[in-house]
Amino acid sequence: MTPSLRSKSIQRYSETRPDMAPTLSFFEKLWTLQDSIAQEAPDWQPPAANEVESALASGRIVFAISAPLVPAEAFRVALHSVSSLLANEGGLPLEHADVLKDADFDTAVTEEMVADILKGVDAFISTMYDKLGGEDAGVPLTTYSFVVTTALTPFIAASATKALKPLKDFDWTRWDSGLCPVCSTPASSGRVLDSGALQGGVRMLSCPLCRAEWGFTRLRCSRCGERSHAKLEYLLDEQDKGHRIHTCQTCHGYLKTSFEKDLGFSVDPVVEEVVMLALDAVAAERGMSPLGENEDRVAN
Ligand SMILES: [Zn+2]
Ligand SMILES: [Zn+2]
Repeated sequence: MTPSLRSKSIQRYSETRPDMAPTLSFFEKLWTLQDSIAQEAPDWQPPAANEVESALASGRIVFAISAPLVPAEAFRVALHSVSSLLANEGGLPLEHADVLKDADFDTAVTEEMVADILKGVDAFISTMYDKLGGEDAGVPLTTYSFVVTTALTPFIAASATKALKPLKDFDWTRWDSGLCPVCSTPASSGRVLDSGALQGGVRMLSCPLCRAEWGFTRLRCSRCGERSHAKLEYLLDEQDKGHRIHTCQTCHGYLKTSFEKDLGFSVDPVVEEVVMLALDAVAAERGMSPLGENEDRVAN
């Protein structure tokens, strides 16, 4: 998380995209909350750069070698803070907001669950959801999934940055995956850097959970690994060439992507993902789903 790039981006889009201003203002509160939660993250020493490199080259993620500790009590406090903000200002249906405000995370989230959270966030979410009453309680799983991941990010984002920072010259074709090299979550967006050259720049993918960024071949599906140009396409609106949807006809998956050259500035993927929220509906209309048809086979 880079607050200065983030605030510059928020300001820019609030001016150029006034339609996005209310949504951005809600997310800005959420990101500020995450910044304060991050103060509670214990310090973590990443593995040595050569250890990280050899792990990645053999297809292992950083957190499989060594993962930061998520403190259970601070995490429960974070869950409460995120759900209150979401309930009060997230524009949820009133009945969902009421359930969320009363959610008993202190009972539903045990020390053991938090100790294992980085081994399987989805498993954590479904266990917690069941303990909170599941569907019968009236709030969709996706809402709790948002709460958990939003509360978790600040405990691991600085660690992810620390782990990858010494790898500046790493050849990312050695990782060659649409899954995050730090925590294994599928990429939530991409950005194509402005290289100044006609051929276009490098594509970086972004992790929605630990916010790591890593390089990935431009002409390849980040979901199923398809390389055939005939199957891959960028959907774009001529009015907004800086934001495109990279689609794949093989798996019907897609990745929302920012083009820095067209936008004319360096982007913050966290802000870009909010600005590109509307593109999900465009992709869905064409029968696409974010991870494609075979979620188990996300490019690896
Ligand atoms: Zn990650
Ligand atoms: Zn694909």
